[in-house]
Amino acid sequence: MKPVVALVGRPNVGKSTLFNRLTGTRDAIVADLAGLTRDRHYGNGRLGKREYIIVDTGGFEPDAGEGSIYREMAQQTRQAVAESDVVLFVVDARAGLSAQDHDIANYLRRLGKPCVLVANKAEGMTQGAQLVEFFELGLGEVLPVSGAHGQGVRSMIETALDQV
Ligand code: GDP
Ligand code: MG
Repeated sequence: MKPVVALVGRPNVGKSTLFNRLTGTRDAIVADLAGLTRDRHYGNGRLGKREYIIVDTGGFEPDAGEGSIYREMAQQTRQAVAESDVVLFVVDARAGLSAQDHDIANYLRRLGKPCVLVANKAEGMTQGAQLVEFFELGLGEVLPVSGAHGQGVRSMIETALDQV
């Protein structure tokens, strides 16, 4: 069985961009419109000889209200997390830490599922002052990546697969 890796994070942090980068396709919809990819989305990835399945999710707002599209997205995301062997929890290095990031971190920590914290949009940043705030999430080290430019993506997936 190939390991299943789920991309989780609030809308617009760059999950679909990372999905496209990992699968080498443009299957997932990348858009400036937050939350456009509403369904779970599966793709095949490969790191050397290791194959894995990568799951893109629409975005996660744990407190989404009844009947809201975000509630449906949150449900889809919970399902994707349940099915996965390891989670890539994506935050936005440029936007910084948000309340939603804290909610997602709490959810993931409670589940106790292997989890890699990834700060996307980190092109041109060094692992330094700008990323220190993410330690507050209590998930350990944060890996700087750029889905748009490809930086750090290989070591991100390597780190994730090593936890399976
Ligand atoms: P999702 O909602 O989490 O799936 O995010 P998307 O992949 O749709 O990306 C949201 C926005 O962030 C788009 O405008 C992307 O072009 C932009 N974006 C994604 N990755 C990067 C990155 O590595 N660097 C920068 N600067 N922008 C990015
Ligand atoms: Mg998306």
